[in-house]
Amino acid sequence: PTQELQQKDAAHHLHPFTDTQELNEKGARIITRAEGVYLYDSEGNRMLDGMAGLWCVNVGYGRKEIQEAAMRQMEQLPYYNTFFMTSHPPVVALSEKLASLAPPHINHVFYGNSGSESNDTVVRMVRHYWASMGKPDKKVIIARKNAYHGSTVAAASLGGMKGMHAQGGLPIPDITHIDQPYWYGEGGDMDPADFGLMRARALEEEIDRIGEDKVAAFIAEPIQGAGGVVIPPDSYWPEIQRICDERDILLIADEVICGFGRTGNWFGSDTYQIKPDLMTIAKGLSSGYLPIAGVLVSDRVAEGFIAHGGEFAHGYTYSGHPVACAAALTNLEIMEREHIVEGVRDRAAPYLAEKWAALGDHPLIGEARSKGLVAALELTPDKAARAPFAASKGTVGLICREHCFNNGLVMRHVGDTMIIAPPLVISNSEIDELVNKAAKCLDLTLADIKA
Ligand code: PLP
Repeated sequence: PTQELQQKDAAHHLHPFTDTQELNEKGARIITRAEGVYLYDSEGNRMLDGMAGLWCVNVGYGRKEIQEAAMRQMEQLPYYNTFFMTSHPPVVALSEKLASLAPPHINHVFYGNSGSESNDTVVRMVRHYWASMGKPDKKVIIARKNAYHGSTVAAASLGGMKGMHAQGGLPIPDITHIDQPYWYGEGGDMDPADFGLMRARALEEEIDRIGEDKVAAFIAEPIQGAGGVVIPPDSYWPEIQRICDERDILLIADEVICGFGRTGNWFGSDTYQIKPDLMTIAKGLSSGYLPIAGVLVSDRVAEGFIAHGGEFAHGYTYSGHPVACAAALTNLEIMEREHIVEGVRDRAAPYLAEKWAALGDHPLIGEARSKGLVAALELTPDKAARAPFAASKGTVGLICREHCFNNGLVMRHVGDTMIIAPPLVISNSEIDELVNKAAKCLDLTLADIKA
């Protein structure tokens, strides 16, 4: 009984990132099961999940092998911690696997349960590292405006979302933000390559402003996800890398979305050929089947800790939870066995890129961009000027998202930017379905705003 569930849900369940009044009026959509790339709701509707849940169900829904691995581990050892000199087989196996998948200079992992925790951990980790190396003043972390790095206090401070800062008295001290390489929205008449260089050099200017001896690290996603799928110009990352190397600033890649195949390589850092000192991971690590996350740590930082740092006074009851580790390991084994990352790179990404680019001809679209299996559509009333819907920022995107929902497609909107990040196993015919449904919903949105 959908209505009963909706009423109880609205009465007792406080949802994340949800307008409570809207929830009370409309009721939540009750998702009851899922298979492959499809979700089913309590009314029997089938929807193509263009967002892989929250950018996480990389191997698709309904993988019995992951369920069985978790069940076996539940029977064997449902829980034990990794504090105080203890370990267990699944955490050892997963750590070895992650070290083999990560770039060669990264061979260590610290576990948490969510991307937010990973980013909170990384803040403490880089400060502890510099203090261990005799530089306790190197504390400032430079992040980017409009980024999303999670909802815990330090992660939301790293994030550059003004609305989130306003609600919690954030950011915490010693975190600053520079502009992002968002060419479509902020590049004006500039050549994208020049714009990418300019936005990278903002990091150097910020380091000069603060003082190199005070800056610990720079954090960014290889491709910014929830902040609107900002795909950087190719000039951006090499310049960021140069600056971090020359100024002795640790580079942190937030791989929570980009990691585990999303961009056509195991990590977004591989796609952009960057060499981060630390990478935060979550989501695709277990394809969302169980909560598990972590920080992948380079030999340089780990050895600094080990040689000089003593005990790192940080950790979670569920750091390296055995059942979550078993699920994550099986997920990674599936990805390897089915060559899912290669499938994104060689099949799905080029296929999506061609179909997606064609949506750029729609009268409502200012830009259709994609990289790997993450893509965005910029809605505009004026293609030539790349103009936003100034007066109603956000609402046109919302209208489009509602049409998608009602026509069997989950797409997300960030203001007037429509976003997809489907499961990595999406087939070419499912990509056709996704793009055709998106085109139909753009037509319906256009008709609405003309009416
Ligand atoms: N970092 C990025 C880039 C994210 O997109 C997210 C979540 O969407 C997070 C961190 C936070 O992850 P979690 O929701 O698992 O705390």
